[in-house]
Amino acid sequence: MKELIVAIDGPSGVGKSTLSKLLSLDLGYINLDTGAMYRAVALASLRQGIDSKDHAALKQLCEKIVIEFVRGEKEERVLLNGEDVSAQIRTPEISLLTASVAACPEVRQAMVERQRVLGADGGVVLEGRDIGTVVFPNADVKFFLKASSEVRGQRRFLELQTKGADVDLARTISEVQVRDIADTSRTNSPLRQADDAIVIDTTDLNIAQVLERMFTVIDEYRQS
Ligand code: C5P
Repeated sequence: MKELIVAIDGPSGVGKSTLSKLLSLDLGYINLDTGAMYRAVALASLRQGIDSKDHAALKQLCEKIVIEFVRGEKEERVLLNGEDVSAQIRTPEISLLTASVAACPEVRQAMVERQRVLGADGGVVLEGRDIGTVVFPNADVKFFLKASSEVRGQRRFLELQTKGADVDLARTISEVQVRDIADTSRTNSPLRQADDAIVIDTTDLNIAQVLERMFTVIDEYRQS
């Protein structure tokens, strides 16, 4: 059977990571969390004291850093220059910084190049903001997930709370909204639905229901 390129785009907290993991596991595909790559760049820039507006320094940083995904005991781990930074890249501080760093065209170019190499042979589920529009405009199947910012903020809040973080619901919702504005209003590859993407509104759906819809779409594609 042909190994597909599956793109999943949408705003933060919409369920992309969970769905992408489950989908790739079931299909036996690689799961590529492109947000984690931008997060790793943001963490590296913070550590090196690089301002998110200093595009030349960010470009140099991207040329130097090594970002890897390795299979951990429970979850996939993200390595930055060999160090496991899976937890450090998920803090609210890094989430906000990432939205600024990801607006830098040089950073986007460097990450998109890496993503294209990693996904070129198919058999991959990529999740992000610009997969179906920029990274793989010819992806076999494209999903665009959406949900209200309140529901997405609540999901993020529960996720962080489960991990033991000291979080506030109203603040988490407003952080989701701030990131939405940054992601949709940037000049370079803004978050935008591809014309040929299948849109799924996850506001009132649980993970199993969304997954079922995704499998239906993939089966239909394979039969067409
Ligand atoms: O998906 P996640 O929330 O981990 O992404 C973190 C940030 O990385 C997003 O808010 C967005 O600014 C950026 N991003 C991006 N393009 C992608 C994936 C993520 O700009 N393909």
